[in-house]
Amino acid sequence: MRVLLSEDDEILADGIAKALRQAGFAVDHVGTGEDADQALQLNNFDLLILDLGLPKIDGLEVLRRLRARKQVLPVLILTARDRLEDRVMGLDFGADDYLTKPFDLPELEARVRALLRRGRVAADVEVVYGALRFDTVGRRVTVHDQQLELSARELAVLEILLQRGGKVVSKEQLIEHMYGWDEEVSHNAMEVNVHRLRKKLESVGINIRTIRGLGYLLESRSS
Ligand code: CA
Repeated sequence: MRVLLSEDDEILADGIAKALRQAGFAVDHVGTGEDADQALQLNNFDLLILDLGLPKIDGLEVLRRLRARKQVLPVLILTARDRLEDRVMGLDFGADDYLTKPFDLPELEARVRALLRRGRVAADVEVVYGALRFDTVGRRVTVHDQQLELSARELAVLEILLQRGGKVVSKEQLIEHMYGWDEEVSHNAMEVNVHRLRKKLESVGINIRTIRGLGYLLESRSS
């Protein structure tokens, strides 16, 4: 899951980004409305967290343009307590939820999960593959009701392999899904994560096959 965070308060943005990354999301951060507007046109995000008071182009305008382009990703707006009319306008402009500053990070995480759940068809929330069940919102993987301990990166690898079920996923696609722009990306690190995940999946009858020069393919040995 890839989240675009548009917030000009650096300290707040760092806190939000850290919390969401720990929860297994890839987070990209922009500090101006202009950058948010551009990023939304160039990348596919699963969710936008949008501060309304942004420099250059304000949050409402970013939102208006987003919806004018018919982009349907869920939007959570952040507003200052004294700007009630902005909040109402934000919802009118097509935001899905709002949080008033200051807020607690667990509250923000709960809203993010709820929005991602709402934006998907029920069948999509839990992906079942062989003996494995992946709760994409709760970020949990279970095998026969036993939780499989996976790191945030391993979860990200598994998620994209499952999303493409049966199709080869290229290394570039994996990297795009796993890392935000400001994170250092290396093919080596990505391959290490694939390798670790492969080890953990071996015991449950699922194989990650390496297709030379193309990428990776998920295979269930039971089917
Ligand atoms: Ca602001």
